Amino acid sequence: MTSVKWPMRRGSVVASSKGDDWRHEAACRDVDLEEIQFFPGDDEARNWDPMPALKVCSRCPVMQQCRIEADVSEGRADGKVQGVWGGETAGTRIARRRAKRKASA
Ligand code: SF4
Repeated sequence: MTSVKWPMRRGSVVASSKGDDWRHEAACRDVDLEEIQFFPGDDEARNWDPMPALKVCSRCPVMQQCRIEADVSEGRADGKVQGVWGGETAGTRIARRRAKRKASA
């Protein structure tokens, strides 16, 4: 079976055309997504453990850029908030955005 790596999954082709070179430094770049899952599968949401993915993020030199990308991508009208992205779980991202909105209101 071919392994899938997340920069490919999250649109590296689009990113490179925008000059998002930070993706080349992503700690998850060479992670085998069959081994470390950044998203729960459709049938696995209840048993999915985000900790292995969060561990990868914790050593990532481009976490801030990734977090900004997550905010932009998930902020679109059809953006789904799920999985680990930018060193945060979906719940953490939602709480952070909510706090930011509240602070700026
Ligand atoms: S913060 Fe996490 S998801 Fe984002 S690039 Fe780094 S390792 Fe990948």
